[in-house]
Amino acid sequence: MPASMMESKYVPRNSNEEAILEMIASMGRVEDHTAPRMAHAEDSNSAQNVWTDRVIIIGAGPSGMATAASLRRKGIPYVLLERASGIASLWKERTYDRLKMHLAKEACELPFKAFPERYPTFITRRQFIDYLEEYARDFCIQPRFNETVQSATFDEASQTWQVQTIAVGPFAEGPRRKLVHTGRWLVVATGENAEMVLPSMPGLNEFKGTYIHSSQYKNGEAYAGKRVLVVGSGNSGMEIALDLANCGANTTMVVRSPVHILTREMFGMSTFSVAMRLTKSLPLWLVDYILVSYSRLALGDTTSLGIQRPKVGPLELKCKMGKTPVLNVGTLEKIQSGDIKVKPAVEQLMEGGARFVDGTSLEFDAIIFATGYKSTVLRWLKDKESFFGTDSLPKERACGRSWKGRNGLYVAGMCNKGVLGGTTDAQRIANHIYSTYFTGTASSAEAEA
Ligand SMILES: Cc1cc2nc3c(=O)[nH]c(=O)nc-3n(C[C@H](O)[C@H](O)[C@H](O)COP(=O)(O)OP(=O)(O)OC[C@H]3O[C@@H](n4cnc5c(N)ncnc54)[C@H](O)[C@@H]3O)c2cc1C
Repeated sequence: MPASMMESKYVPRNSNEEAILEMIASMGRVEDHTAPRMAHAEDSNSAQNVWTDRVIIIGAGPSGMATAASLRRKGIPYVLLERASGIASLWKERTYDRLKMHLAKEACELPFKAFPERYPTFITRRQFIDYLEEYARDFCIQPRFNETVQSATFDEASQTWQVQTIAVGPFAEGPRRKLVHTGRWLVVATGENAEMVLPSMPGLNEFKGTYIHSSQYKNGEAYAGKRVLVVGSGNSGMEIALDLANCGANTTMVVRSPVHILTREMFGMSTFSVAMRLTKSLPLWLVDYILVSYSRLALGDTTSLGIQRPKVGPLELKCKMGKTPVLNVGTLEKIQSGDIKVKPAVEQLMEGGARFVDGTSLEFDAIIFATGYKSTVLRWLKDKESFFGTDSLPKERACGRSWKGRNGLYVAGMCNKGVLGGTTDAQRIANHIYSTYFTGTASSAEAEA
């Protein structure tokens, strides 16, 4: 461990001392905003260095915020960098109006703060945003907004991470400024959904109607009376198709490959909670059998509607392939009633519509691509240890080892487990930094584990 790191060790002895450390840490954060401890570069295009002997967290979504709160609880200083102009930009800017969380509220809480009692089991997007805003206030989370990370490199000589950003707005003190943050530890919390994925579909250039990605969809008002094709049959695609049908759009959805559709609730509880409880005492295959049998009984056989079930069970598929089952919120009933049509994969888009692989064609005015997102970490992280795969996600995320790399690199929220995964990572990270570097209680084996 470098000498300077040893010097920063401390062991809080009593609650007064902890309170003082907390106060110092929070004062430091305010200082970060207003007075970067470096001389300004003359030229606003040249890189300006903002020194920090702290944890650098990238991304102020739920995972980054959970990490910030967990570090604060331990009195560990940090700086939080966010490209958007506010917290939780995915939830505020890239989700649709009628969205409710797909998982029950107990699986979506951030550390140290419960949802208000009055919140329903499946909380709305708006309620989640309000909760996150309050969370930021409670834990004095004040990210440096409008700062986009361009590169993050570990410098062997100084044993620090060098994070270069482009800032616009108040932190830039000018129209656009390059900044460099230096820190011992780096937490990547930029999410699995950093950028939308639009498929390169044959004929897309010829299509004369409008098309958008699901992240740009707000509600179905503008589509009333129009012929709309939804491409993608995950949770977002299914729910957007339902929203469109409810708003009077003539809706068709593409279901290209087999998908598990489960009931959102079982025996009066959230299906996710039931599944989690059952996996504690039963093998995965048996839990899968129970989930699928229950859904078959409650929803009927989806094969007759053009939706095949995968041969592998829903939990096994999630563990092995990261594929999330769809929780039915009413779409299946609309398919059964004929209000939503189901088609197989698109073979070719044409000027006025689409031809499908079963040889049929339909005319459309608009297409919504609910075709998912991707992580973009490898565009800016110099990943010398090849911790990330070519998909910009940790290679070993299926094995529970996605949260910690080497040289003080940590990752929060990239284990394909939603908000719950991000908050679990956040607490592990804070505990690890604290026990390894600040109190020295972790063994060297634990430090490298
Ligand atoms: C429609 C939809 C519904 C969902 N429903 C649920 C649900 O019900 N339950 C659940 O658990 N999960 C759900 N998810 C998954 C959800 O995205 C995550 O659980 C949660 O938002 C992950 O939080 P995060 O902080 O890891 O990532 P994000 O929320 O994506 O936050 C990452 C942050 O990093 C910032 N960032 C990215 N790149 C940079 C950069 N280079 N520089 C600076 N900042 C950067 C982004 O602007 C963003 O603010 C849903 C996702 C979608 C799209």
